[in-house]
Amino acid sequence: MNAKKMMYAAAALVAGWAGVAVSATAKGPICDTAAYVNSTTYYSCSGSSHTALDIGNGSCNEWNHRGMLAGSYYYQYFGGCAGACYGSTCNGGAGNYYVVTGANGWDFRQLHFYANVSSGSKTCDGCALGLVGGTGQATGPHVHADNRQYATRKSAWYTSKGTTCGTNAYCGNIIGAPTL
Ligand SMILES: [Zn+2]
Repeated sequence: MNAKKMMYAAAALVAGWAGVAVSATAKGPICDTAAYVNSTTYYSCSGSSHTALDIGNGSCNEWNHRGMLAGSYYYQYFGGCAGACYGSTCNGGAGNYYVVTGANGWDFRQLHFYANVSSGSKTCDGCALGLVGGTGQATGPHVHADNRQYATRKSAWYTSKGTTCGTNAYCGNIIGAPTL
């Protein structure tokens, strides 16, 4: 490799390291047709500010809570919370949760897992990450999913797909386009 090519290679490495945020595809987290979105920008659709999706199928400690991103992503696990269906103060209200880290301060999170043998950091596509539960700040078992930039929750990822209260969140349905 000559000097000029080496410079180009170095520039490409720096560009890759700095990262460029891109649009991902998010599907429903529960493979049950009874799974629905029941909070979006506001809690319970009309309460206080939420700016995320809450998705449930009415069960706890029963159904798999799956990685929502289409394609292979690294899900970093933050656990340690005892099983709960109706809330706890664990992990600052997040309960057992996963984070997928993107570029430029973006991330995608899934919260409130009831941990089981599937729980742990892993790279996968739509795999089981634990069970639907209510660890952390939860009044009932559900999946909380958010897309943040520098820890601020954004709404465009679900509004861009027309996802609102009552949208069916079966695992085969696309319900969002998070930035990562
Ligand atoms: Zn929520």
